[in-house]
Amino acid sequence: MKPKKIFFFIVAPLLIASIVLWVYFDFILSSEKKLTNKFYADESRFIAKTISDNILSKQKSTLAIAISLANDQELKKLLLSKSIPKNYNKSLLNKIKKYSSYKHIWLQILDNNGVSLYRSWANVKGDSLANIRDDIKSVIARPKINYSISSGKFDLSIKSMVPVFIKNRFIGIVEIISHFNSISSKLSKKGINSIVLLDKKYSKKLKHPFTKLFLKGYYIANLNVPSDLIRYFQEHDVKKYLKKGFIAEDGNLIVIYPLKSQNLKTIGYYIAFKKIGDIELVHLFILKWISIGIIIALLFGLLIGYVLLYIYRKKKVYYKNIIDSSSNIIIINDGKHPIYANAAFFKYFNFQTLKDFTAKHKCICEFCDNYQNILKNKSKNMSWINYLFFIQNEPNNTIKLNIKQNTYYFHITISKISDDDYVIVLVDITKEEEYKQELKNLTITDELTGLYNRRFCYQELSKEIAQSKRYGYRLSVIMLDIDFFKKINDEYGHDAGDRVLQEYSLLIQSSLRDSDTLCRIGGEEFIIILPQTEKKDAQKLAEKLRKLVEKSKLTISLTISLGVSEYIPGEDIDSLIKRADKALYRAKNGGRNRVEAI
Ligand code: GH3
Ligand code: MG
Ligand code: MG
Repeated sequence: MKPKKIFFFIVAPLLIASIVLWVYFDFILSSEKKLTNKFYADESRFIAKTISDNILSKQKSTLAIAISLANDQELKKLLLSKSIPKNYNKSLLNKIKKYSSYKHIWLQILDNNGVSLYRSWANVKGDSLANIRDDIKSVIARPKINYSISSGKFDLSIKSMVPVFIKNRFIGIVEIISHFNSISSKLSKKGINSIVLLDKKYSKKLKHPFTKLFLKGYYIANLNVPSDLIRYFQEHDVKKYLKKGFIAEDGNLIVIYPLKSQNLKTIGYYIAFKKIGDIELVHLFILKWISIGIIIALLFGLLIGYVLLYIYRKKKVYYKNIIDSSSNIIIINDGKHPIYANAAFFKYFNFQTLKDFTAKHKCICEFCDNYQNILKNKSKNMSWINYLFFIQNEPNNTIKLNIKQNTYYFHITISKISDDDYVIVLVDITKEEEYKQELKNLTITDELTGLYNRRFCYQELSKEIAQSKRYGYRLSVIMLDIDFFKKINDEYGHDAGDRVLQEYSLLIQSSLRDSDTLCRIGGEEFIIILPQTEKKDAQKLAEKLRKLVEKSKLTISLTISLGVSEYIPGEDIDSLIKRADKALYRAKNGGRNRVEAI
């Protein structure tokens, strides 16, 4: 294959396919990135909303408990006396622990200045929280129901606060404190692990940290944090995560939900972990791999196609070379016209291309006189292909083509190679044919005079007898003998006698018609075969020849005697010749230089 063809048929398509593939991958990857980012964003929004909903529902349900306690008359009395007994309402808290999912509910009672009078979870009291917690400060300033997330001395927790009144006089606060454990255990059932961190600044202020768990200075506010989660943050920079909404890394989707205080300061972080493997991206991958599969299959198909094409072309060239190397003419014909021809064809017919040839000739049939004669005469319907098949079945199997003043003889082979196509092979046998002709001439001619010999004379005469029998033609023969030839030999020598034979042969031959056949059948004896001639005319011809010889002015004068006979239907060749011979004998006996007929 030429380099140009290699480029057009192999390199260019592969290049285009590679570019398409590259664009495709780029598109898939970018859209995959976009899709996954959108998926992560949606998923993290959903997780953050779950966290926020859970916190709110916890605040609301604990608020109900606080409201019921704030209206308790006994509590109001105890508040006025600023003395709350040690196990105040412990049974209520135990019941909540037993019958709800809130396992760590705390109760705190404060006076109207924010001083803690009672803590259900610790024996610490009398300390003021008004300066420590913004939410308490806010309730003291405007005593009304409030809920918040805040951290104090013990923990980062969820608060519900209800002011206590006696006849519109604000006397204290009932506070129900809950934690993040129930929320984290609820999320863990959905495959989300949680770690709740208190900001470093607030972690420092804890005096009695409830969980006693810290991570690089951050207080861990929830219990039962999976150890691998704690390890993960020990190995990574925690700070990096806290500022972001979500991060997808190491097979995890990490969602950071900021926990905000009363005055909207971020005091902590609810960090949720979800394994990305659970995220359903399967459809995208299937789509991607199906597409890649199709492209690979296409490329593979393309490659196989080109390999086959290459092999086919190579084979074609290979076979073309073989066919062109043949000295025989090879033509493929579609039944009417040549559609392929090898190099030898162009050499013989002297054309550059098949197109040039077909512009001038219908087929090589135009060079075959025999076929053209057939068209002119009878079998007008015989196609060239049929003619070639006919010739192929002939014993001789030879066609004669006249190409530019040259006559060629070809041995022919024709065979059908498909429904319409034929392959014709012409083997040049011109030399053999000429040699054959020469050989044939040698066997039928007389060497001295160039006339037909005795054998040919008998062959020809038997053919003519057959024709005469079939069609009833008249047929005559003349037997001719030179008078006293022995004398000529004796007088002038044998060579001169030979020359005399040659000269008179020529003289007689020249005065005969084309259809007459003159043969030398012996030393100075000749036969003339006269087809379609009756005895009377033969006699006239014989007389004409006799006179011609007698009056000829050749170097040696001589006379001839002639015997004429006409074919009698039914007789054989010997009988016809015998009668002519008898007539000749009569002419000799009659004094020579005469014509006799029987
Ligand atoms: P006629 O026929 O008149 O009876 O007499 P003739 O002398 O011709 O007699 P005959 O037929 O017996 O003799 C023929 C002679 O022709 C005999 C032979 O020497 C001669 N002859 C035969 N063939 C050749 C030949 O090829 N060349 C030459 N120079 N002479 C030949
Ligand atoms: Mg003689
Ligand atoms: Mg003789």
